[in-house]
Amino acid sequence: MNKLPAFLPAAAPSTWLGVMGGGQLGRMFAHAAQAMGYKVAVLEPAADCPAGQVAEQLINAAYDDVQALAALSQQCVAVTTEFENVPADSMALLAEHAFVAPSSACVSIAQDRLAEKRFFVDCADVSGVMPAPHQLIASAADIDAIPDHLLPGILKTVRMGYDGKGQARVASRAEVRAAFDAVKGVPCLLEKMLPLAYEVSVLSARGEDGEAVVYPIAENVHRDGILFTTTVPGPHVSAARASQAQDAARAIIGRLGYVGVLCIEFFVLEDGSLVVNEMAPRPHNSGHYTMDACVTSQFAQQVRAMARLPLGDVRQHSPAVMLNILGDVWFADGSDAAVEPAWDQILELPGACLHLYGKEEARRGRKMGHITFVAPTLPQAQAQLQAACAILGIAA
Ligand code: ATP
Ligand code: MG
Repeated sequence: MNKLPAFLPAAAPSTWLGVMGGGQLGRMFAHAAQAMGYKVAVLEPAADCPAGQVAEQLINAAYDDVQALAALSQQCVAVTTEFENVPADSMALLAEHAFVAPSSACVSIAQDRLAEKRFFVDCADVSGVMPAPHQLIASAADIDAIPDHLLPGILKTVRMGYDGKGQARVASRAEVRAAFDAVKGVPCLLEKMLPLAYEVSVLSARGEDGEAVVYPIAENVHRDGILFTTTVPGPHVSAARASQAQDAARAIIGRLGYVGVLCIEFFVLEDGSLVVNEMAPRPHNSGHYTMDACVTSQFAQQVRAMARLPLGDVRQHSPAVMLNILGDVWFADGSDAAVEPAWDQILELPGACLHLYGKEEARRGRKMGHITFVAPTLPQAQAQLQAACAILGIAA
C-alpha cells in the first residue's frame, strides 16, 4: 500500500536514491545518480558487488529482509531496481516510505512470462503487435493437449529466466516432457519457434506525469543465448519498421502506467512482421549504447524518472555498435589461466568507449564489461568492432 501523498516534489540533489540489486546495472545507475548530485544506497546480499563498490552505502541483506527494506526506504526519497527478479512484495513494502519506480505491479507483470504475454495480448488493440503463439505447461495433461501448430517450439520457465537460462528447444511432445522434467515441473510456457529475420529492442521511459520518451530502435545479435552486439541504427531496420516498434513501445509503456526505464524486445520475422517478445523493467544491456551515443543515457533517464524530474533528450548523436565483453575473453588463448585483455590496444581505436564493471574474477559467460564504438558513420563504427574482435580473440 502506498502511504505517500499523491503529489510529491522532485527529489532534491544530495538526497538519497536507492537501488535494489548490486550488479553492473546498479553500478552504472549509481554513477549517473552521483553525476547529478545524489547519494546512492544499494541493497544487495553479496558483500563485493559492482554497485556496492561505487555507492555511498551498501546494505548487505537479502532482497526480502523486512528490516533492511525499511532502512532503505526511510533513508531514500526514491527507490528503483536493477534486476527484474526483485521480489515484487519488496517493491510494495518500499513504497510505504519512498517513491518506488517501477511499481511493484509493473515488476510483477514483467517477471512472469505468462502475465507478460497476457498483458501483450490485452494491449494489442493499441500496440498493434502480438506475442508468439504460446501455451502454459503446468502438468502432464497440458503436454498431451499441446496443439500441433506450437511445435517445434521453445519451452521457457515462467519465472526467473534470463540470458536464455531455463529454456529448451523442443520438437515433439516427448521432448517437451523431458524438458519439463529437467526443470522439475515448474510452470513453463511453450512458445512456437518463429522464423526470425532479426531481433530489435526499444528502450523507453515514462515519468510520473505520464510523459514518455522512446529511444532509437536497436538491432541485437545474440550468441549462446547472451547478447553479443547491439547496433544503432540497425542495419536491417527500415524507417517504417522503426516507427512501428517505437509506436508499439509507446502504447505498451502508456497502458502499463509505468514509471521508469522499460526495455521491450521484439522479433522481426522473415515475412517482415513484428512480434513482441518480452520486457525488462529497468535499463537493459541493449541500451548501453545510449551512454556514449545519446544525449541522455538510459541510467541518467532512470534517475530522472525516479526523482520525478523532466525526462532527458533521447537524441542519438553518433552511430554506435556495442560489444559485450564476457569473461571468455580472458581465456582467448585456450588456457585455463585468466589473462587480462589488451585494453591499451582497444583504447587506441578511435571512438572506442570501454566500460568495465569491477568484477574481480573473470569467468566464461560472465558479463565483465562492454565497449561502445561511436563514429561519424555506421560502417566506421562496425570497422572498429571488427578490429576490437581481432584484438580480443573474438570470432567476429
Ligand atoms: P534475455 O534475458 O537474454 O533477454 P531470456 O532468457 O529472457 O533472454 P528470451 O528473450 O525470451 O529469453 O529468448 C532468448 C532468445 O531466444 C531470443 O533473443 C531469441 O533469439 C530466441 N527466441 C526466444 N523465443 C523465440 C521464439 N519464439 N522463436 C524463435 N526464437 C526465439
Ligand atoms: Mg530476451
